[in-house]
Amino acid sequence: MTTETRTTITWDYAPAPEATDHIRLKDRYGLFIGGEFVPSERYVPTINPATEEPIAEIAWAGPQDVQRAIEAAREAQPRWAALPERERAKYLFRIARLIQERSRELAVVETMDGGKPLRESRDVDIPLAAAHFFHYAGWVDKLVYGVNAREVRPLGVVGQIVPWNFPLLMAAWKLAPALACGNTAILKPAETTPLTALLLGEIIQEAELPPGTVSILPGDGALGAQLVRAPGIDKIAFTGSTGVGRDIQAALAGQPTRLTLELGGKSANIVFEDAALDQAVEGIVNGIFFNQGHVCCAGSRLLIQESVQHEVINKLWRRMSLLRVGDPLDKNTDVGAINSAEQLQRIEALVQAGEEEGAHRQSVACELPARGYWFAPTLFTDVSPVHRIAKEEIFGPVVSVLSFRTQAEAIEKANNSPYGLAAGIWTDKGAKAFEVASALKAGVVWQNTYNHFDPTAAFGGYKESGFGREGGPAGLRPYLEIVR
Ligand code: NDP
Repeated sequence: MTTETRTTITWDYAPAPEATDHIRLKDRYGLFIGGEFVPSERYVPTINPATEEPIAEIAWAGPQDVQRAIEAAREAQPRWAALPERERAKYLFRIARLIQERSRELAVVETMDGGKPLRESRDVDIPLAAAHFFHYAGWVDKLVYGVNAREVRPLGVVGQIVPWNFPLLMAAWKLAPALACGNTAILKPAETTPLTALLLGEIIQEAELPPGTVSILPGDGALGAQLVRAPGIDKIAFTGSTGVGRDIQAALAGQPTRLTLELGGKSANIVFEDAALDQAVEGIVNGIFFNQGHVCCAGSRLLIQESVQHEVINKLWRRMSLLRVGDPLDKNTDVGAINSAEQLQRIEALVQAGEEEGAHRQSVACELPARGYWFAPTLFTDVSPVHRIAKEEIFGPVVSVLSFRTQAEAIEKANNSPYGLAAGIWTDKGAKAFEVASALKAGVVWQNTYNHFDPTAAFGGYKESGFGREGGPAGLRPYLEIVR
């Protein structure tokens, strides 16, 4: 019997753009204070990073607006905290349901404003944002069980500063537990991605939250710094860079203001020789190319056991060359636009440093659109632990490969970082996975998976990756004071 040789089929992709004609964006968005959109003295356009075209004019808040938002939040807080628990939960359920109802619109706007592939905003960001509100809605009448039966009370007014990599999701991570616990909140979205936060303002209006319960103040870093230092704020919750986190911590030193920081990372993704290598390669790709690598817990330090190093690198490179880079609104796109010109410059500078320090760079040869901010998926081999690309957060689609021989060496190299946010372990041996996980100084350790998020699970860091936890019952604690 002869076996027929199968012809290799090369599949091509037809364009699959998501429609944008159902989006009803306004030309201008005001500040959301006291349950209303109010005008501001200054408007700044928000730009689509895939086209460099302006999308809408955004009001930027000034110091008086911070004061007005704080006054509205202070006035609303006692009444919000005094609502029957099931009543407060009702509002969180409403927000969750309205996010679901507007999910398609929110996904498209998130992609237009931030550059991430629609597949990710549609399948990850928006459903998870709704899931966080659902999850914390369920906690409102069970707070006591989340804090070991202690008597608790809300902190008061919280200031929340979020970054541009998961705009709506980070807003949900922060607002849902704060509101569930009876606090009122002032949210500052990132300068480059204010739109979905403002649509959330519309949702909050539609859900009929009492005025002042949530205010949304777009602006730049200077506004964030004002919010941190403003009198009348009981707690600051910040997600962003370690540098700004340090500045905030210094500003609040000696103040009664509570603080939680979710900062950067340089997370190790560790592949042992006994791992299912094809599965591991998918995990590596998801670990570093998800959201163009704009992920605080990205698996940007890939540690591969020496015996399988070449095999894994070859498989990875082959897989990387299949990644589709381009229009984020196309449903086939894997890697979208870099969030801003500034972030692109940071990535380019670190990649250049990697080449100058002697690491070997391979970037996928892909046709990048003429306009917008783009960076081709990049692999660095021959990396030494002292290279900047092995130590510093690149926050882009760039992975640095290091090798190890023994389990002890893998643990030592993984922990050799000032950061401690996340890690991944790829192995076929359950006992080894648990042994390594318990030796890693990282807030989250994934086993045979990566970048897996769930509202019921706590997320947060060690060392320079910050402190405090978000998600699950642990995420309630930073928004409550223990009375007894
Ligand atoms: P930042 O830390 O500057 O921004 C995060 C948020 O803080 C934004 O809303 C920002 O406002 C605000 N902010 C900026 N300066 C201050 C300040 N002095 N006081 C209070 N709030 C402030 O991150 P970048 O956007 O500059 O990104 C730089 C690097 O940070 C990235 O390359 C990446 O390494 C890291 N990063 C880490 C993130 C994480 O999830 N851990 C998220 C984002 C960035 P505005 O946007 O208006 O400047």
